Amino acid sequence: MEDIKAFAFDVDGVFTDGLVLAMPDGDLLRQFNSKDCFAVRTAVDNGFPCAIITGGVSQSLLHRARSLGIPDEQLYMMSKNKVTDLLHFCQRIGVEPSQVAFVGDDIPDIPAIEAAGLGVCPSDAVAEVRSAADLVSQYPGGRGCVRDLVEHVLKSQNRWIFDPENPWKGNHPDHITRFAQFTGKNVV
Ligand SMILES: [Mg+2]
Repeated sequence: MEDIKAFAFDVDGVFTDGLVLAMPDGDLLRQFNSKDCFAVRTAVDNGFPCAIITGGVSQSLLHRARSLGIPDEQLYMMSKNKVTDLLHFCQRIGVEPSQVAFVGDDIPDIPAIEAAGLGVCPSDAVAEVRSAADLVSQYPGGRGCVRDLVEHVLKSQNRWIFDPENPWKGNHPDHITRFAQFTGKNVV
């Protein structure tokens, strides 16, 4: 945990419990856990680049990633090969795969779990993934597995730091603009 410099996450079954609501327009609605999301934003704000690597695609996922401080270039949607995207992320941020923690819950995640320095899965990941992972979280997908991992890694490096004077640091400009539109206030 002391050597981890970045995080990459699958979405369905990791940030969520794996359920999706299929909408009439074809979009899929997902339920995120705010405690996981706070942890990711705290990681980004403390200098840990984060990526999302998912086979899914949706506009709401794009917005969610931005609100976590994840640049669009580090949101890999419709990923066909998660290792390729994981290595691309590593190259982009200049870290070795051995310095990245990757979290996934199903068969397509196994190669990335094996390629990452710390391969992690939620407690309710499929059996093959639990066997492949270096660390099986005690929490299931959508119920704190992301929070648990990120908090442990940051605390092990004394970087679990939230600056109440500057809580907007990780916010994407889109969100700051939207906040200003809603409230008439400028937060930066
Ligand atoms: Mg998944």
